Amino acid sequence: MIPSPTSPSEGPETPICSAKGCRAAAVWVLAWNNPKLHTPDRRKTWLACEEHREHLATFLGVRGFLKDTVPLAEWEPAGTGEEHRR
Ligand SMILES: [Zn+2]
Repeated sequence: MIPSPTSPSEGPETPICSAKGCRAAAVWVLAWNNPKLHTPDRRKTWLACEEHREHLATFLGVRGFLKDTVPLAEWEPAGTGEEHRR
């Protein structure tokens, strides 16, 4: 699943939880990195609702992938790409 930065038909202003089958509004951002696939400074993000935050964090945590859990309100996607601006 590759989220596209611009999807005109969907409503991008309402982030949805990344948990399978969940349609709840996301309130948490889980930043993670798979060292086998990603360079160390790369951050993948999952969105989580209140209910699934712990589930997703545990999923990533047991694999050693989880780097950070940030409230969606405090997450600034623009700030994550500063070193890779194009
Ligand atoms: Zn959820």
